[in-house]
Amino acid sequence: MSFQSLKMANWLNYKRLSAFLLLLLLSFSYPVAQYKRIAWGFYGHKRINRIAVFTLPPELLGFYKEHIEFLTEHAVDPDKRRYAMDGEAQCHYIDLDRYYTAGEDPFTIIPRKWTEAVEKFTEDTLQKHGIVPWHINVMKMRLQKAFEAQNVDLILKYSADIGHYIGDAHVPLHTTENYNGQLTGQKGIHGLWESRLVEINAEEYNYFVGKAKYIERVLDCAWDAVKASHLALDSVLRIEKELTAEFPNHQKYSYEQRGNTVVSTYSYAFSQAYHQRLNGMVERRMRAAILTVGSIWFTAWVDAGQPDLSRLQNTPPSAELLEEMKNLDAQFHAGCHSGRICD
Ligand SMILES: [Zn+2]
Repeated sequence: MSFQSLKMANWLNYKRLSAFLLLLLLSFSYPVAQYKRIAWGFYGHKRINRIAVFTLPPELLGFYKEHIEFLTEHAVDPDKRRYAMDGEAQCHYIDLDRYYTAGEDPFTIIPRKWTEAVEKFTEDTLQKHGIVPWHINVMKMRLQKAFEAQNVDLILKYSADIGHYIGDAHVPLHTTENYNGQLTGQKGIHGLWESRLVEINAEEYNYFVGKAKYIERVLDCAWDAVKASHLALDSVLRIEKELTAEFPNHQKYSYEQRGNTVVSTYSYAFSQAYHQRLNGMVERRMRAAILTVGSIWFTAWVDAGQPDLSRLQNTPPSAELLEEMKNLDAQFHAGCHSGRICD
């Protein structure tokens, strides 16, 4: 073959390769077109805080509606802080299975009261295995104090934060050390349950959850949420396993483009089959979370002596608070660019 024809052959190969690559790229981006592309992982939290606003009675509704964008946007700040602050990560979960073996009931083993639990297990152990129910109670007290002081910045910050922790307490995989299926060969199930299914189906959920209620004992309410989550855990893991046995690998996963990379994710068909067999579980947990968030905001306000929030209206968050949150965001995104996976 002459040099000229060799060059020609290379050129043709190059063209064929480009066409192939283009086709490949198109086929990778196809699943994206099937459902709305939404910020990965954060969508559920934002929606919970946003819809919780509409459960509130008129005395709170005006104030919360005025700040609905703030409460939505900052529903994910606690997850951003996980990477920046020591002591933050354990506020998002509780690994109940560290406390019991098969046949035992973790809810009789772990005292609900912090001081009793510390006495029984030591604070180090509790911190190591996660503290979400107790942290929700602490956050409620902080929110109540913010209402007492009529401090707009703190009311907003703690309302957004507590919404996040309550949301986490409603996720079954936030109650186990096997939080991502890593101990049972089901790695990735965390994102499947709390992100993928929500992204695909959230528009179809029924968000009429009723009116916020006064909660006599916030700590018990937080524990009840954790308990209901933990009782659903068995189905979350078992059903994924059963479906995996029915789906060949190439049908279980598909590819989609995120930024400049193509990543493997659960296929639309697999996700929807999982959704169907869970029989509305994700929607039920999300609805329960929304109502609990509204109810705990309301309870903190009642326990603060029902301050008149109309006097606080038309007061935007301070420049200092916005600056603090901007810095948190910048820090978080800098971490994403330096190689951390941010979902
Ligand atoms: Zn979280």
